[in-house]
Amino acid sequence: MQYFFCADCGARLEQGVAFAPQRCARCHTWHYHNSKPCACALVMQNGRVLLARRAVEPRQGFWDVPGGFLEAGEHPEDGARRELLEETGLTVRLTGLLGIYMDSYGADGAPMVIMYYLAEAIGGALRAMDDVAALEWRALDDLPNEFAFEHQLRVMQDLKKSSDI
Ligand SMILES: [Zn+2]
Repeated sequence: MQYFFCADCGARLEQGVAFAPQRCARCHTWHYHNSKPCACALVMQNGRVLLARRAVEPRQGFWDVPGGFLEAGEHPEDGARRELLEETGLTVRLTGLLGIYMDSYGADGAPMVIMYYLAEAIGGALRAMDDVAALEWRALDDLPNEFAFEHQLRVMQDLKKSSDI
């Protein structure tokens, strides 16, 4: 995303803010553009992982991992648990961090940084909700070969490695 006006005083910014910081010429406020933080959870059960089919754009209909954008001030662990409850109906316990990945989101290529936790369900009832159209448990040797986001193939490779498959 790019914006062209100072958020503090409304003056036009000379270059617009995309990826480099820029200072407003009128009120001297600095404007920064950062990667958007996201948290996802790989819920495991009997050697299978819970995947979600996206109900919304971008990449509607593609396979995804339950999770989403963090709210302001929210710890990624809390965000992962919140998103899992919203999207899958499951209460999950996080059992570890698989890794941190980079990608971009949507047509304007907004950069995002995504934390992937390993998790197990400890309550709730599985139901696709929110921006998820369907949920499916998939064996690690029978995963989709295309995902909503490019980095997710690497996530799946790392998940297999961490599960010794
Ligand atoms: Zn300004």
